[in-house]
Amino acid sequence: MDQGDYRTRLANCRLCKRLVEHHKAIKLIHPSYFAAPVPIWGDEKSKILIVGLAPGLHGASRTGQAFVGDSSGEFLFASLFKIGWATSPKADEAKLHKVMITNAVKCLPPANKPITVEEKRCSKFLEEEIVAFRHNGSGNRAILCLGGIAFKVVAGLTHPRERIRFGHGVSLDVNENLKIFGSYHPSRLNVNTGRLNSRMFNSLLDRIDKFVNMRGDLDQLITGSIGGSCK
Ligand code: SF4
Repeated sequence: MDQGDYRTRLANCRLCKRLVEHHKAIKLIHPSYFAAPVPIWGDEKSKILIVGLAPGLHGASRTGQAFVGDSSGEFLFASLFKIGWATSPKADEAKLHKVMITNAVKCLPPANKPITVEEKRCSKFLEEEIVAFRHNGSGNRAILCLGGIAFKVVAGLTHPRERIRFGHGVSLDVNENLKIFGSYHPSRLNVNTGRLNSRMFNSLLDRIDKFVNMRGDLDQLITGSIGGSCK
């Protein structure tokens, strides 16, 4: 992916009039907010791509970085730090290791609810991100979808003719080196109601970690190498 071209096209995208108008309204209320399409960020040699739904009003739509600045990000980064994929449990201080983070829909939707046509339009950017992610090195890779809509959009790109059920912990093979995993979204509602807790989420991250490290272990056995590979 040509990052410069991608960022320019994303920043200038006005395909969804409803969301463009929503950004303008947010800017009037909160002039300092980012309130624009939010690009992917993280480790460009990533093994794991995390896909959320859309920017949160006081999170990514404020800071310009997916999952930075709101309670969903606090939950996510506590777990990313625990497993070693982030250098800090504080999203605004953390550097990501092995991970990139994006959203299925890059613009802030009213009431956090994109409509289907917006999901479809924006999936072109997501598809571009996934293609770049798949080709940025060797070994196993995982896409972790946070919430049913992110899972539906990603599965729609990789398995367009199949109807796939979403649930926490479901996984889907794209090929032998790429799996999609589904998690309940770490929204305040899901966390406060106990639908998702840290134990459930950390256990899923452990599964993903084992999967993305499998090929690295195999390579080491074959080559006898014990260092230097980016796992
Ligand atoms: S949601 Fe995606 S497709 Fe729609 S305007 Fe924003 S960047 Fe463009």
